[in-house]
Amino acid sequence: MSSPDLLGYSDEIDVLVVGAGMAGCSAAIAAKRTGARVLLIEKSNYPGGNATRAMVAPWQSYHACVANLDGSLPKQVIGGIAQEFVDDLVSIGASTGHITDPIGFAGSITPVDPDRLKLYLVGKLEAEGVPLALGTEYNTGFSVTARQIVDASGNASATRGLGAEYITPGNPQPMTWMFTMTGVDYCAVREQQLQHPDQFVLHPAFASLPEEHIAVSGFFDLVRDATARGDWTLPRDRLLFFSTPNPGEVLINTTRIAADHPNPHAEGLRQIQELVRFLPEHVPGFANTRLGRIADVVGQRESYRLEGTARLGVADITSGSVFPDAIARGCYPVDIHGASSSVLETDEVGGHGWYDIPLGAILSRDHGNLLAAGRCISADREGFASARVLPIAMATGQAAGMVAAWRALGEKVDTSACLSLVSLV
Ligand SMILES: Cc1cc2nc3c(=O)[nH]c(=O)nc-3n(C[C@H](O)[C@H](O)[C@H](O)COP(=O)(O)OP(=O)(O)OC[C@H]3O[C@@H](n4cnc5c(N)ncnc54)[C@H](O)[C@@H]3O)c2cc1C
Repeated sequence: MSSPDLLGYSDEIDVLVVGAGMAGCSAAIAAKRTGARVLLIEKSNYPGGNATRAMVAPWQSYHACVANLDGSLPKQVIGGIAQEFVDDLVSIGASTGHITDPIGFAGSITPVDPDRLKLYLVGKLEAEGVPLALGTEYNTGFSVTARQIVDASGNASATRGLGAEYITPGNPQPMTWMFTMTGVDYCAVREQQLQHPDQFVLHPAFASLPEEHIAVSGFFDLVRDATARGDWTLPRDRLLFFSTPNPGEVLINTTRIAADHPNPHAEGLRQIQELVRFLPEHVPGFANTRLGRIADVVGQRESYRLEGTARLGVADITSGSVFPDAIARGCYPVDIHGASSSVLETDEVGGHGWYDIPLGAILSRDHGNLLAAGRCISADREGFASARVLPIAMATGQAAGMVAAWRALGEKVDTSACLSLVSLV
């Protein structure tokens, strides 16, 4: 069957990738490099998904979930296209590269500037020869046909459109509307962390980590006291923010909006407004700050995903599971932002600080031409809460692109070849 003349792309498509988030971009590049004729479609006006539209950063984590006592970076687990992106972004000043996570929650964090990421991705896809159709939504009326479809939509749009089995999250994690503040005095913030370590979650070697980056999970008493006074109404027990590649700028990841909130935008703006007033008045290091950028969309953490031939589960994360048909590896803890409480539910990664993701987590259980990548992979609530982060989304994206291309071209699916390109351990 032939496709319409989308982007002048009228030949038959081997691999259609739905969604140009970081997983979809990785999938499309991987499928193209494997020899497939690829089309990448994106319903919004630019690529990057949550990493650009919702301003999600820092990317975490490329490294094993271990806190080295000397403060050095743990072993790097995720490589491949995900690492290529970082190398390129560092070379244009859009990322600082990997740094030890000062919070000590993940192995590393990788600050990235969302706006420069948008521009970079367009150029990268063009250089790779991947046609990108922006403003193009996959829905039930979508008529482009392809031998294989990779659902990288973040919400299983293609899976649901094709009538394939999918997982509906029972108790989805809340949403967050990201924004930045500029003019932050990093030294003053760091001084608070050094002087009052009981008020923060900190890496055990925090004092020896580089001073030019900050990452903050805490100010617990300050938030508790402000809540008691009525100056803080957000459903959170802490401030969570990170420095960006732009000096003096921090990305605030503190608003919390229930996934089923009837008026999420109004509630999100109300919380941002409260924080923009609160931070300069009450938080050390913020006295001379101003609102910077507000993300284009409220960030949705959790949505529908594929029902695969296997489901990544909590035991896989906590035991550091090993699968003979692994296609990628993950290295981030189970990280559940409570849907109706201010707390975080977490579980550590077992084994060496990483776990295998099996082929079955990206293959549809009932549709022979359908695969999933990124947020759409098959996982239970806790498995998803680990595998949902950006480096792992890019790793499963690259794997899904390769497997889709092999299937479309009638070639053997070689999971070891795939794993050796995606993973460094
Ligand atoms: C508030 C928040 C904080 C987070 N914090 C972190 C963090 O600190 N570090 C980290 O690494 N990760 C974090 N994450 C997780 C991370 O952002 C996402 O899981 C990641 O973006 C997943 O990438 P993806 O490509 O799978 O999906 P997405 O980024 O969701 O991309 C999906 C793309 O598909 C497009 N699309 C959807 N439907 C269609 C359709 N029908 N047709 C065509 N296109 C479609 C969308 O427009 C989008 O561009 C956070 C997420 C949120 C929401």
